Amino acid sequence: MSPPSPVAPRQGALSHHPRSPRALLLALAVGTAVSVGLAAVVVSGLRREPDAGDLLLRRPGLGWIRDAARTPSEQRDRTPAPPSQPRWVSPLTRACPVADPTLRQHLSQMRLQITKVRPDPTNYANRRTRDAFGQAIDPTPSVIVLHETVYGLQSAVNSVTTPHANDDDQASYHTLVGLDGRIVQTVDPAQRAYGAGFSAFDGRWVFTNRRFSGSLNNFALHVSLETPEDGENAGPNHSGYTPAQYDALARVIADWMVRYGIRPEAITTHRHVDLGGERADPRSFDWTELQRRLTALGLVC
Ligand SMILES: [Zn+2]
Repeated sequence: MSPPSPVAPRQGALSHHPRSPRALLLALAVGTAVSVGLAAVVVSGLRREPDAGDLLLRRPGLGWIRDAARTPSEQRDRTPAPPSQPRWVSPLTRACPVADPTLRQHLSQMRLQITKVRPDPTNYANRRTRDAFGQAIDPTPSVIVLHETVYGLQSAVNSVTTPHANDDDQASYHTLVGLDGRIVQTVDPAQRAYGAGFSAFDGRWVFTNRRFSGSLNNFALHVSLETPEDGENAGPNHSGYTPAQYDALARVIADWMVRYGIRPEAITTHRHVDLGGERADPRSFDWTELQRRLTALGLVC
């Protein structure tokens, strides 16, 4: 396996951390690497759906897109099945801890305070009820995908509020959760956020456009955790997320689970759903912390 490349900063995003000359050189090198990768996909004739390029590892994995692009278009008139992917074994349901009444009280008394920002219309779309091949599809959210921002919360907000004419730059999550527990809704859950471009879950994906690869975005909710400062790189891990962040994440997820009837087994990661083998987020995520909170709220066991 080739070594991971540094993280790709988002187009139009401003980091709240000062950029050093070394960081600028790094950004240039990453930009070149990303351009070469995108060129390879574009040349093949079928492109990845817009995707939150939050943590890019340059691992090979675009074979399906290349193979599909070689298929004559007259043979591509039915929804293709996604390539095989390992089954998701949820860390939330491996064991059944005893619910903590103190934690339950703490979480129940937390005010669910959500700041809403208005995303630029280029960075999201309507959920579809019919796919690009004319098949009726259910747009109800049924999977929750966890991400991390890599750069700060404000950088992710700037990215989603900035117009991106080029689909390769369009990226979004529904909700961001800050290190201090702040909750920011960047795309309404009723809309389709561009969180995972070349992706599937449980053998299911959707083509919203024949020029793009399949993706789970049409039936997914994307939530992204603000990365701590020591994680603004492509390293395999960092110091992790704060208790306030796990509290807020649990409240956001609990709200979605109840609202849409989503099972705990359908809470997964960008790393798992990505079919390109290029995403590794969220790094250093502690499933036990989420499990304790969702169990306290009566949503896991
Ligand atoms: Zn991600």
